[in-house]
Amino acid sequence: MDKHQTLKHYFGHDAFRPGQETLIDALLDGRDALGIMPTGAGKSMCYQIPALMLEGITLVVSPLISLMKDQVAALKSAGVAAAYLNSSLTPRQLELATERAMQGAYRIIYVAPERLETASFRRFACAAPIRLIAVDEAHCVSQWGQDFRPNYLKIADFIELLPHRPAVGAFTATATRRVRDDIMRLLRLRSPVTATTGFDRPNLFFEVAQPRSKYAALKAILATRRGESGIVYCATRKTVEEVTDKLTREGYPVSRYHAGLSDEERQRNQEDFQFDRVSVMVATNAFGMGIDKSNVSFVIHYNMPRSMEAYYQEAGRAGRDGSDAVCVLLYSGQDVITGRWMIDHAEPNPELTEQERRMIRSQDEQRLRQMADYCTGSGCLRGAILRYFGQEAPERCGACSRCTGGQYAFVNGLERERRRHSTAQTEAAPVPRGGMQVSAYEDGDILMPIKPGVRLGHSTPAPAEEVDDTLFGQLRACRMRLARGLGVPPYVIAADKTLTDMARRKPRSLNEMLEVYGMGTAKVGKYGDAFLEVIRRYGSGPVSGIREKSSAAAPPAPRKATRRGGRRAADKAAPGWSSEEEERLRRGYLAGVSIAQLAAIHGRPEDEVRGELAKLHLILDQARLEQYGVALPEEDGDA
Ligand code: ADP
Ligand code: ZN
Repeated sequence: MDKHQTLKHYFGHDAFRPGQETLIDALLDGRDALGIMPTGAGKSMCYQIPALMLEGITLVVSPLISLMKDQVAALKSAGVAAAYLNSSLTPRQLELATERAMQGAYRIIYVAPERLETASFRRFACAAPIRLIAVDEAHCVSQWGQDFRPNYLKIADFIELLPHRPAVGAFTATATRRVRDDIMRLLRLRSPVTATTGFDRPNLFFEVAQPRSKYAALKAILATRRGESGIVYCATRKTVEEVTDKLTREGYPVSRYHAGLSDEERQRNQEDFQFDRVSVMVATNAFGMGIDKSNVSFVIHYNMPRSMEAYYQEAGRAGRDGSDAVCVLLYSGQDVITGRWMIDHAEPNPELTEQERRMIRSQDEQRLRQMADYCTGSGCLRGAILRYFGQEAPERCGACSRCTGGQYAFVNGLERERRRHSTAQTEAAPVPRGGMQVSAYEDGDILMPIKPGVRLGHSTPAPAEEVDDTLFGQLRACRMRLARGLGVPPYVIAADKTLTDMARRKPRSLNEMLEVYGMGTAKVGKYGDAFLEVIRRYGSGPVSGIREKSSAAAPPAPRKATRRGGRRAADKAAPGWSSEEEERLRRGYLAGVSIAQLAAIHGRPEDEVRGELAKLHLILDQARLEQYGVALPEEDGDA
C-alpha cells in the first residue's frame, strides 16, 4: 500500500491535510522531521502512516497516559496493532506487553518518557527493530514552553543508545521560535524537514464577553447548546466546585475535573464525558491535555487563562472533527488580579537556578499582559491570536465577536432565553446574528433551532444538502450501542462528522460506506453492517420502532440500566417511545422547552419525560443525581 491507500484503508480519509505529506515523506525516507501544527490539524497521522508503511516498530513518546490509552483504542478500532507501556500497567502486564512487542505483535507502541530510562525498556529497545521514534508534544522539552518536563531532556540520550538510530519525528502545537529551536537542539534532530502549517482554525468562532454575571452568561450559552458536548474551564478548583454545584442543582448534566479529586473520581468523570454520558465538563486546566474527543462543540473560559498558548490549546479542543464550534472567554478584571497572584505564588521549580526563575517569572507576567490585551482590545480576535503566534492575518476574519459586532453564543443565548420567557412558543425565529446563521422553524408547537447549514465566517461552505437529523440521531444511537459493547468512547467508533456525512450520503452497501468521511476499510468491516442496517430500516418504512429493532444489527451491547423506576414501570404500562417521538422530545428539549411543557405536548407524565431525557443523555439520571446528593429540581424549564 502506498501512503494514500494507507490513509484510506486505515483512517478512511481521501486526502492529506496541509503539511502531512511533507512530514510523512521525510520520515519514510528515514529523515528527521519537525511538525508544528495547531491542535486538531492532524499531527498523529504524520507518524501513524509511516509507522504502518515501514517494517518494524514505531515508538511514540507521549507525556500523558490518558492520551495513550485513547489513541491506542482508536488505532485498534481502525485495525492497527498498537499498545502502550506506562505506569498504569502492572509489572506483570508490562512484562507481557514487552514480550509480545518483541515477538512483533505491535506496529506502534506508545511510551511515557520516564519509561525510556528503565533498564528493561532499554534492553527491549536495543533488541527490537525500531524504525521510527515520534515525540508528541515536543515542546515539553523546552523551558520556554508551557509544560516543561525534565524527562523529555533524556529522550535524545535514549535515541543515541540504540544500535541503529531511527528517524525521529517531533510534533508540537507551540510555534514560538525559542521553543522550536529548543526542540531541534535538545532532541538533537538531524537537519529535520520542517513543516509549519497555519495556526488558523477556520471552524472555530471566537468570542470575548465581559458580562456582569458570568454565571448567568454561562447558563445562557449552555441553553443554546443543550445536548452538545462542551468544556467550561475555570481558573481554580474552588470555582470548578461552585460552578459544578450550581449547574448540577439546576439539572444540567455536568461533571467536574481538577487535581484535587481522587484518581478514581477523575478517571470516572473523564470517562463520563468521553463516553457522552454527561455533555459538559467543568474543569481546571488539569483537564484536557489527554482528551482527544473530536465532538466537543464549545469551550467556555469562565476565567481568563494566563497565556495565549494555554488559551489556544484549551479553546482548540473544540471542533477537532472539523465541525463548527464556539470558543467563548468570559472576562473580568478580577481574572488579571487572580493571574498575578498565581504567578507570585507559584511553587519554584527546584531544578532551575535563581536567574532562570526570574526570567520565567517575567515571561509569565508578559504572557498575562498579552492575554489581558486580547480580552480588552478592539481588533479582530482571530487576528490577535494568529499574530501572537507569528502568523500574518487579515484585518478582519468575519467569524469572531469583534468582527461580527455581536456576540454569537452569549447574546443569542440570552435572546433566546428572554424570548422563551416573554413570548409564545410558536413565535418566529431568533434573528440571525454574527457569522453564524441561526434560524428556526415550527413543528407543531415546538420552536426548533436548525443547526447552521453554512460554515462560519471565512471558511468554505459545506454542501448545501440538508443533513437528515432523524437518521443522524439513529446513527448516533447505533454508535452508542457499539461503543458500549466494546467499552470504548463513542468517537473511537466514528466521529460526529462521520455520522453527519453518513446521514447525508445514506450508503446502501459496504462499498458505498467506504465513501463516507472517516470510514476506512477496517471500520467498515467492523461497524459497516450495523450502520447499514440502521440506514436500511430508516429508508424502508415507518420510522417507529427503529431504534429498538435495529439493535439486532449491533453486537450484543446491553443498554445500560440507567432508567428510572418510573420509566421502567412505564415500559410495561404506557406505550414505549417511538424513535420519532424520541426525536421530537430531543429537539424540543434542545430548543429550550421545559419538562412540564414537554410532558403536556407528549401527553406523558413528567417523570417519564425525565427518564427518557436521561436515557438520551440530555439530563442526569437519578443515579447520578443521587451521587451528587441533589434532589430533583422542581421545574427546570427556566434553568
Ligand atoms: P492533533 O494531534 O494535531 O491535535 P489529531 O491527529 O488528533 O490532531 O487529528 C485531529 C482530527 O483530524 C482527527 O479526528 C483525525 O482523524 C482528523 N484527520 C487527520 N488527518 C486527516 C486527513 N488527512 N483528512 C481528514 N481528517 C483528518
Ligand atoms: Zn475577527
